[in-house]
Amino acid sequence: MTKVEYTDVTKKYGDELAIEDINLTVDDGEFAILLGPSGCGKTTTLRCLAGLTEPSGGTIEMDGFDVTDVHPKNRNAAMVFQNFALYPHMTVRENIGYPLRVHGTDKETRKERVKEVAETLEIPELLDRDIDNLSGGQQQRVALGRAIIRRPSVFLMDEPLANLDAKLKMSMRSRIKVLQRDLGITTLYVTHDQEEAMSLGDKLVVMNDANIQQIGSPDEVYHEPVNRFVAGFIGSPAMNFIDVTIDDEGVVRATRADEDFAYRLEPDIADRYSDYDEFVLGVRPQYFTVNTEPVDNAIRGEVEVTEPQGDEQIIDIIVGDEDGESVDLTVVAPSTVAAHRGDDVWLTVDDTLVHGFDQQSGDRIG
Ligand code: ATP
Repeated sequence: MTKVEYTDVTKKYGDELAIEDINLTVDDGEFAILLGPSGCGKTTTLRCLAGLTEPSGGTIEMDGFDVTDVHPKNRNAAMVFQNFALYPHMTVRENIGYPLRVHGTDKETRKERVKEVAETLEIPELLDRDIDNLSGGQQQRVALGRAIIRRPSVFLMDEPLANLDAKLKMSMRSRIKVLQRDLGITTLYVTHDQEEAMSLGDKLVVMNDANIQQIGSPDEVYHEPVNRFVAGFIGSPAMNFIDVTIDDEGVVRATRADEDFAYRLEPDIADRYSDYDEFVLGVRPQYFTVNTEPVDNAIRGEVEVTEPQGDEQIIDIIVGDEDGESVDLTVVAPSTVAAHRGDDVWLTVDDTLVHGFDQQSGDRIG
């Protein structure tokens, strides 16, 4: 059982910072997801723990022992890669048993453990098959088997589902979740897919630009994002960001649409922004209500595109003068709302759910 602790871990390639001052604790048995756009430093963070990349600064501890300079073989961390990295000329049995063979485990024990692992992953019937004629999902299970057979202290997974089709991804996702919980192994899992991250982890570590932006539960990062980056990265479709001014009556006006986008906030909500004349208003597409008739205190816009999604639809709406300045909004509405291209609609907002962000720093201000 293992607790992992990164302290001020930095990795530089020449002048480029791949990760900068990473401070992160993953508790014993915890499932942590590193999430962020391509190139933000997720894989580097994982590789530093595996010992495959040497940090330029900082320390990594496993259960209180500094492992920063410990050889990868002696860290007892098992890594699963996106491309599975299986040995094509070996059978499933040989692939799963390989880490034990390398460690000199006797044949009898090896046989037993391979059987045990294959049963856990529900693939005993595949043991004598060649890797080449397995499906992607089956190969993924073999890769997981090879990783868990040594009973590692830490499980490291780098986009392990990236090469699977959407349906298989869903079923492997829940399999990994159950497996991690049953084995109770401390796990760090890298993905750039926010939906996958939200559904899998206890702890989300949102990264951007070599830095950790926020660490929190899926609920926290969704409902209480610390800054504009996190707010925009988490949630689908992405949050709308609107540059607004605010007056003494609590009316916000979009700077690109002025009176066409004027909305009176409830006094206690407006109070949050009392120190600001201008800020960035953040509204998730789900927090608008689309009215097809005029209503009081509403933002009038014109429907540009509708995308049916079954019970819901995504509607792109333009507010303001089409020839002059305007604001584009993305809104999610029930499919029963009759909105068509060119129609006028009136939007109201659940303003208890809006966020405000500082225009310069991007920090959330309410
Ligand atoms: P992706 O999701 O695309 O895999 P990532 O978030 O995992 O991205 P990293 O692979 O950790 O990001 O890379 C972080 C930065 O470090 C990138 O700018 C990358 O180009 C750089 N980098 C990573 N490995 C090396 C290397 N071996 N040599 C030089 N630069 C590297």
